[in-house]
Amino acid sequence: EQARELLRSKIRSIPDFPSPGILFRDITPALADAEAFTAAVELHLHHIADLDGQLDAIVGMEARGFLFGPILAHRLNLAFVPARKPGKLPAETIAEDYALEYAKNTLQIHADALRPGARVLIVDDLLATGGTAAATTRLIERLGATVAAQLFMIELVALGGRAAQGDHRVEAVLQF
Ligand code: IMP
Repeated sequence: EQARELLRSKIRSIPDFPSPGILFRDITPALADAEAFTAAVELHLHHIADLDGQLDAIVGMEARGFLFGPILAHRLNLAFVPARKPGKLPAETIAEDYALEYAKNTLQIHADALRPGARVLIVDDLLATGGTAAATTRLIERLGATVAAQLFMIELVALGGRAAQGDHRVEAVLQF
C-alpha cells in the first residue's frame, strides 16, 4: 500500500559499505522522516497483528534491533530484552557465535532475561544471510523460551536468510 511505498522510498542503498561488494541498505533516511518512521512502526505492527495476546517479550539485537524493538514492545505492552555484543551485559550471560554477511561475531543474552515458556518475537532491522537471527533464536531457545516469529524491516531475499531460520515464522515489511 501507500505507507509501504513511502517507507521503501526512504531506504538508501550505499555501494561498497562497509566493504567492497556489499550493497548496504541504509534505513536512517526512514527514521529521519517522521511520516516514514510512523509508517514503519505501523507496518511492523500490521505484520504481527495476529500474535496480539500471544507474546510475552521482544528480543532485539544490538544495535539496530534496538530501534524498533523497544517501540514495538511498548506498543504491545511486552517486555524488551536486548541481545548484545560480547562484554556489554553485566550479569550472567549465555553466548552464541554466528557468521555475519561481512564479519563474524558473538551475541549474548542475560541468562535470567526470559522465563522458560516465554513467547518471544525477535526484532531486527534487516535479514541478510540469517546468521544473526539464527544465533538469537538459539539463545532464546537455550533459555527455554519459544520464538513465535521473527520480524524485520528489510529482507534481502537473494541472501537466503529466511531458509536459514528453519520452520520459524519470518515477517518482513520490505523485501529487496
Ligand atoms: P545476517 O546475519 O547476515 O542476516 O545479517 C543481518 C545483520 O547484519 C543485521 O543485524 C543487520 O543490522 C546487519 N546488516 C547486514 N546487511 C545490512 C545492510 O545492508 N544494511 C543494514 N544492516 C545490515
